[in-house]
Amino acid sequence: MILVTGGAGYIGAHVAVELMNRGDAVLILDNLCNSSRTTVQRIAKVVGREPGFIHADVRNRRALDNVFKEYPIEAVVHCAGLKAVGESVREPLRYFETNVSGSVTLCQAMADAGVFKLVFSSSATVYGDCAQMPIAETCPTGQPTNPYGQSKLMAEHVMRSMAASDGRWSVGLLRYFNPIGAHFSGQLGETPTQTPNNLLPYLLQVANRERDVLRIFGSDYPTPDGTGIRDYVHVMDLAEGHLRAMEFLREQTGVHIWNLGTGRGYSVLEVVSAFERVTGVTVPLAFEPRRPGDIARCWADPGKAAGQLGWTARHGLERMLQDAWRWQCLNFPRIEPREVVLRSIEQG
Ligand code: NAD
Ligand code: UDP
Repeated sequence: MILVTGGAGYIGAHVAVELMNRGDAVLILDNLCNSSRTTVQRIAKVVGREPGFIHADVRNRRALDNVFKEYPIEAVVHCAGLKAVGESVREPLRYFETNVSGSVTLCQAMADAGVFKLVFSSSATVYGDCAQMPIAETCPTGQPTNPYGQSKLMAEHVMRSMAASDGRWSVGLLRYFNPIGAHFSGQLGETPTQTPNNLLPYLLQVANRERDVLRIFGSDYPTPDGTGIRDYVHVMDLAEGHLRAMEFLREQTGVHIWNLGTGRGYSVLEVVSAFERVTGVTVPLAFEPRRPGDIARCWADPGKAAGQLGWTARHGLERMLQDAWRWQCLNFPRIEPREVVLRSIEQG
C-alpha cells in the first residue's frame, strides 16, 4: 500500500489515480486545508474503486504513527504542503512549519515504522535564477526568493542529510516545472480556494468570465516577445513520473533527483494565444510591471528522467490547455453557450 500525503490536492489526486490504475492500494492522508473530500469521491469514480482516506495533518506525529501501525505502507509519496508564494511571504512560519517540519515529522514516523521509500514533491523553484538553460539536475540550487521556495529547498536538504546518515533510505526528489492541465475525464483538476497566483488557473478564471482581465507581469524580459518563459507539463505526465520514480526506488537506495518538465518553454503570450486557438475564447489582457521575484526563463533538461526512468512528457501545450478548459467548464460553469465550447473541445 502506498501512502499519498496531500492526495486530495491537485497533484496528489492525479498521482493517486495513476497508482490505483496500476494496481496499487492507496491510502490518502490530507488535512483538507486546500482541498475537499469530494476529490476523494471523484478519485473513486474515475478509478472504479475507493482509495483509503485519513483526515489528518502531516505535522501530527501520533496520527502518522497510527497510520503506519494500522496499514501495510511500503512507500510514501509526499505531496502535502502549502504552495502559495504570496501567502508564504505574509506567513513564513506557517510555510516552514508545514513544508519543513511536516516533512521532518513524516520522515521520523517513516523511519520508526521501517518505511524507507519516499517520493517528494519538490519544485524547479529550488534552482533560483539559473543562468544556464535548459536546467539540468547538475545545476546548483540557487536562492529561492520567497519562503515557499526556501521551504522546498530546506525540505530537500533535510531528506538528503537523512539519507546520507542511513543507507536504508530510497528518496526521489521530483522537481516539478509548471504543472497544468487536468485529468482527461474532466473529473479532477486544480481548484483554487483563493485568488490564483499561477498563470493557468488565473487565465481559466478570466476565460470563464469570473475575472475581468489577465494581467501579464512583465513584457520587457530578454525573451523573444518580452514575456516570461516557463516549461508547462501536463499533470497526467507528472503523475506518471511519480510511478516511474517509485519503480526506480524499489531497486535503488540513496537520494535521486529528477526534473519533471517537457524540455520546451513557452512565453505567457504563447500560452494565451494557444489557449485562444484551442478554445475559441478570447482572453482580455493588461500589461503590468514585472512581478517581484519572477525570473525571465525556466525550462528543464528532462534527459535524466528519460535515461533513468524512461519517462518523457507525452502531452503538448494544446492538450494541457484543452484538458484544463474542459475541467473549468464542467466544474465552474459560468459563460454561455457552454455546450458549444465543450463541443468544440471534444471535436479537438
Ligand atoms: P494542493 O494545495 O492542491 O495540494 C496539497 C494538498 O496538501 C492539499 O490537499 C492540502 O489540503 C494538503 N495539505 C496541506 N498541508 C497539509 C498538512 N499539514 N497535512 C496534511 N495535508 C496537508 O497543491 P498541489 O499543486 O497539488 O501541490 C502538491 C505539492 O507539489 C506541494 O507540496 C507543492 O509545493 C508541490 N509543487 C506544486 C507545484 C504546482 O505548481 N502546483 C509546483 C511545484 C511543486
Ligand atoms: N504570470 C502572469 N500573470 C499571472 C500569473 C503569472 O503574467 O497572473 C506569468 C509569470 O510572470 C510567469 C509565468 O506567468 O512569467 C508563470 O507564472 P506562474 O506563477 O504560473 O509560475 P512560476 O512563476 O512559479 O514559474
